[in-house]
Amino acid sequence: MVIVLKKDISSEEKAGIKRMLAARSFKLNEIRGEESTIIAAVGKLAMDIREVEVMQGVAKVIPISKPYKMASREFKPDNTIVEVPNGRGQIVRVGGRRLVSIAGPCAVESRQQMMDAAQAVSKSGAVMLRGGAYKPRTSPYSFQGLGEEGLKYLKEAGEKFGLPVVTEIVASEFIPVMKDYVDVYQVGARNMQNFELLKRLGALGKPVILKRGLSATIEEWLMSAEYLLSSGTNDVILCERGIRTYEKATRNTLDLSAIPVLREMTHLPIIVDPSHALGVRDKIPPMALAAVAAGADGIIVEVHCHPEEAKSDAAQALYPEQFDKIMRDIESLAPVIGKQVAHIMTENAQSPLTSGIRIESGRIKVERPASRPKCVFCGEKGAYAESAVEKFFCSSADAEHVHSFDEIFQSVVDGKARFGMVPIENSTAGSVYNNYDNLARFEDVSIVGAITLRIEHSLLAPKGATLETIRTVYSHPQALAQSSDFLKAHKWNQIDTVSTASGAKLVAEKGSVENAAVANARNADIYDLEIISQGIENDPNNYTRFVVIEANHVGSGTRSDDIISGKANMATFMFSTKNEAGALYDALGIFKKHGLSLNRLESRPIAGKPWQYWFYGDAAISEEIEEPEKYVSDVMEKLKTVAADVRLLGVYRENK
Ligand code: PEP
Ligand code: MN
Repeated sequence: MVIVLKKDISSEEKAGIKRMLAARSFKLNEIRGEESTIIAAVGKLAMDIREVEVMQGVAKVIPISKPYKMASREFKPDNTIVEVPNGRGQIVRVGGRRLVSIAGPCAVESRQQMMDAAQAVSKSGAVMLRGGAYKPRTSPYSFQGLGEEGLKYLKEAGEKFGLPVVTEIVASEFIPVMKDYVDVYQVGARNMQNFELLKRLGALGKPVILKRGLSATIEEWLMSAEYLLSSGTNDVILCERGIRTYEKATRNTLDLSAIPVLREMTHLPIIVDPSHALGVRDKIPPMALAAVAAGADGIIVEVHCHPEEAKSDAAQALYPEQFDKIMRDIESLAPVIGKQVAHIMTENAQSPLTSGIRIESGRIKVERPASRPKCVFCGEKGAYAESAVEKFFCSSADAEHVHSFDEIFQSVVDGKARFGMVPIENSTAGSVYNNYDNLARFEDVSIVGAITLRIEHSLLAPKGATLETIRTVYSHPQALAQSSDFLKAHKWNQIDTVSTASGAKLVAEKGSVENAAVANARNADIYDLEIISQGIENDPNNYTRFVVIEANHVGSGTRSDDIISGKANMATFMFSTKNEAGALYDALGIFKKHGLSLNRLESRPIAGKPWQYWFYGDAAISEEIEEPEKYVSDVMEKLKTVAADVRLLGVYRENK
């Protein structure tokens, strides 16, 4: 049932309602809206809804209309994101804006076969490893799987490549032997309605991939998910793997229309297994892409390094090259549908978490390494961004350069560096759009700090150069724009470089007195150049604001308090609005209502959705607010009720 609370309900009344329902074993989900707060309650006991209706503070009670309750969107309007930790302290997330690929052989056959498969699929971008150790075969004479030995090979291979493992459970009696090896249980199509298995499995609380039965309707499938959810796990991933129809050209018929249908019915993530649906390897790649295009959260496919030797499902096993091509295609498709492909952190990466991740009283805890973290910036040594790293971290992090803004984000997501220094806005040239778009694209990244740097440009050139010898100036386009008054006075060619420092480096390499660079004066020392003119920027009040990013591999909570300290005074929100009159006004009203001053509002087109926009809002949080994170999370709840989509990019300290 859905219990709509009165607006003026007291906290004691609300607690009383929750207590009463919990005492009767109801599972509760509180959803706070702008107009009203509701409690979704699902229980095994039949209860007369009038008993709740008469309680103080209750406005009305509506029964959940669907037979599946906890799986329904009525119970939980927001998409569920299933989190699966890997051995590298990273969390693989299924759902939301991420695309995941799970790959591996149908069955575990040998240690070597699993190692080879894991290496191949991880290289191409799989984030989980599959392999059956107990195989439900049509014939009792076919290979039945290696059992526990197979589980060992699967786990060992998964650990080596940082891949959580997925394997099928065929009966609940295998739980004791499987539980130490398995990250995600798979319930196969043939067991979808094995309710006793579902109940026992749900009670373990581990993530489960629930495949659709060979002849199950979508509703029957959700009823099976309900068994898992009502038994104790929140983490169910639905997997469409083809249903039996009269068509014989493929092994089964892949029902991709189930995806948009399910999206409306349920909050659970949905993945697609084109391997078992098609049954023939050459027909799998187009359907894997179609699944992603249709809105699936990921794919699960069978890959074997020597398919001709596979002991089961040989005809549908993809060659590693075929899987690699699928992954490259998915990378290109992802931005078109506004999604981002999930990756595993590279081995030996300088992860913030490599020293260990533990679960302590139900919360994920992270142990920090003793070594100094890295902060990557774009450009060569001497870039303004490098000064920003030095100024922000005051030698508690090492600055290291990469070659593009995208690489900053990718390095942080892959764990190659813990932090990234990202220019976001310049006071004269405006927004760095590329980085606003990266914040949208890289969903597992948060803003954990910000710093504003005064930008003072100099004209640098090799020894012997004068204003008269110079013909060409090299620099980042923003630096050229910011020095346009000075440059206009001289009729020089202007050539763009990726950063100001790379312009200085190039000029030094060329060594000609005809070339000069617009850059930070510190580059004169680094590249042995002369300062021809200093302070050439149009406006001496020229500032660049940088944000510091970190990957949120670990669930919620502040991540950087070991390095970055100070009470948060800024929050950055990202939201899109419904296409209706006053939608933006309503969203902005939430900031006003909560006394958050919006310092800046930027908008960017949403990738793949023409004429729809992300709004980025930087809000200042008053020092009087005692718990900024909690305050902001309340604002988020309110914003969710009026916006089409909302993301909190970070609650952080900015030293002004
Ligand atoms: C499998 O994944 O290997 C499998 C047996 O799948 P399904 O249950 O979908 O047939
Ligand atoms: Mn199979």
